[in-house]
Amino acid sequence: MKASIKRAVTVMVIFFGLIIKISCSQGYQATSQKGSEFSWPEGKKMALSLTFDDARPSQVDKGIPLLDEYGVKATFYVLHRNMMRRLDGWKEAVSNGHEIGNHSLRHPCSGNHTWAINNSLEDHYTLERMRMELDSANKLIYEALGVTPVSFAYPCGYTFIGRGVNTQSYIPVVASMFKTGRGWVDEVPNDPAFSDMAQLTGIPLDAQSFEEILQLIESAKRRGAWLILGGHEIGEEGTGDIYTSYLNVIEAICEYATDPANGIWIDNVENIATYVTETRGY
Ligand SMILES: [Zn+2]
Repeated sequence: MKASIKRAVTVMVIFFGLIIKISCSQGYQATSQKGSEFSWPEGKKMALSLTFDDARPSQVDKGIPLLDEYGVKATFYVLHRNMMRRLDGWKEAVSNGHEIGNHSLRHPCSGNHTWAINNSLEDHYTLERMRMELDSANKLIYEALGVTPVSFAYPCGYTFIGRGVNTQSYIPVVASMFKTGRGWVDEVPNDPAFSDMAQLTGIPLDAQSFEEILQLIESAKRRGAWLILGGHEIGEEGTGDIYTSYLNVIEAICEYATDPANGIWIDNVENIATYVTETRGY
């Protein structure tokens, strides 16, 4: 008798367990197929930001004139020392509505990048030093351009300092100083109903064809997502440099994204982040 009750209980546990499992996976599928509940302005299906890092001279010389032809406003995460090489160009970019973001003072990265080994996140940073350098970079940018950055891009996409059991995240430092922080080489675009503004994803524009970017755009559209593309040098296709975004691809993106029939809101990070945070209330 006891054994048969035990068996009956076991069968019931397995049965209800299966029901819970099936309903959970259906819930996941429904969410992933439906996309975000978030609504973009004017019935747009997605948002797109073009961003460029390091204030490389080719951005001023080649990229900004092209973006200006289409009236597309981008975000440039600058390094002060590079910015000073084209100061007049950057001043003009600001007056044309482009956003200037912070990309740190000394571009610290993991020492696995051999050029960063003497200024590595693993061995040379405390949270206090990081805060001071980000603040210094903001002040230098303000002195040069008269704007204080509200957007930040993590150099090389890393968000930690220290190593092993002493590793700490510097995301809270960034969150306390900026409206947004953007990563690098991420896999998915941002879900505007969910994403952490201090950990926005960034997907490479460098070395990509327009067909490859169009796939990302179509996927973001299905999700109602905010796609943030990131690049470095701006130049002709065929240089073989994996850190170059191609002029013809940028032009094709501008053409596609500014055609109202394609349902894309293309704008700089600050403008889109402001809309997202005001719409969802945080
Ligand atoms: Zn960089």
